[in-house]
Amino acid sequence: MRLALAPLVLALAGCGAAATTASSTVNPADLPAGFVQFSSTVSMRLEGNYVVVSTSDLPNHKSPYWGAGSANYEAPQAGMAPNPSSIAAQTYVLRIPRTPTPSASPADTPMDAIGVALNGVVFFNQYAAGRVALGPEIVSFDRYNGHPAPRNNYHYHFEPVYLTQASQSALMGFILDGYPIYGPKETNGSTASGLDACNGHAHATAEYPGGTYHYHAVGAPPYLVGCFHGVAGTVTN
Ligand SMILES: [Zn+2]
Ligand SMILES: [Zn+2]
Repeated sequence: MRLALAPLVLALAGCGAAATTASSTVNPADLPAGFVQFSSTVSMRLEGNYVVVSTSDLPNHKSPYWGAGSANYEAPQAGMAPNPSSIAAQTYVLRIPRTPTPSASPADTPMDAIGVALNGVVFFNQYAAGRVALGPEIVSFDRYNGHPAPRNNYHYHFEPVYLTQASQSALMGFILDGYPIYGPKETNGSTASGLDACNGHAHATAEYPGGTYHYHAVGAPPYLVGCFHGVAGTVTN
């Protein structure tokens, strides 16, 4: 039996080496579905029941917030009023459950990072500082719906449209409770409907053919996630 198993182990190792993830410490086969779609700038390791995701939070697209002189700089779009912050590398570490668990009473999301997009940029909730409506801040979003906070930590409160320009039903990233978040549409082209207070619902998706709870981006508050459907992991920066 041992001899027969050896080629299988080698085959799995070879599969891992070919994946797009930059992490050298985790076999993609051990990650939850969809995690292999993270950018190579995002590193992952397994720690018990958690995937520990580390990211510098730098967007893979242009923005006025890179600052004049940066190769990634572009002028503000019409109507944009940039805030005084800029883009700077962060040291975000998100501990995301490998197997999400529904919460008995869904908790409010905290300020700062509530999840991470596939390009390594963190998601924030629907509030500005003081848990007030984003209203006046929306004009400071760049054309990909991101802007930096006072610590120069870039983030998305809205659909990260750079990630959904090819498909509005695309997987966008993962929330701190381990559930995935998708664009505003379903794979059949319809707009996501029947969303609960947390802004999610359950059915089969491209990455989870057996079905999963998942969030969707929408055009009105809470925009991404209204509350954690599952028991949330932790985040530091
Ligand atoms: Zn913000
Ligand atoms: Zn859906």
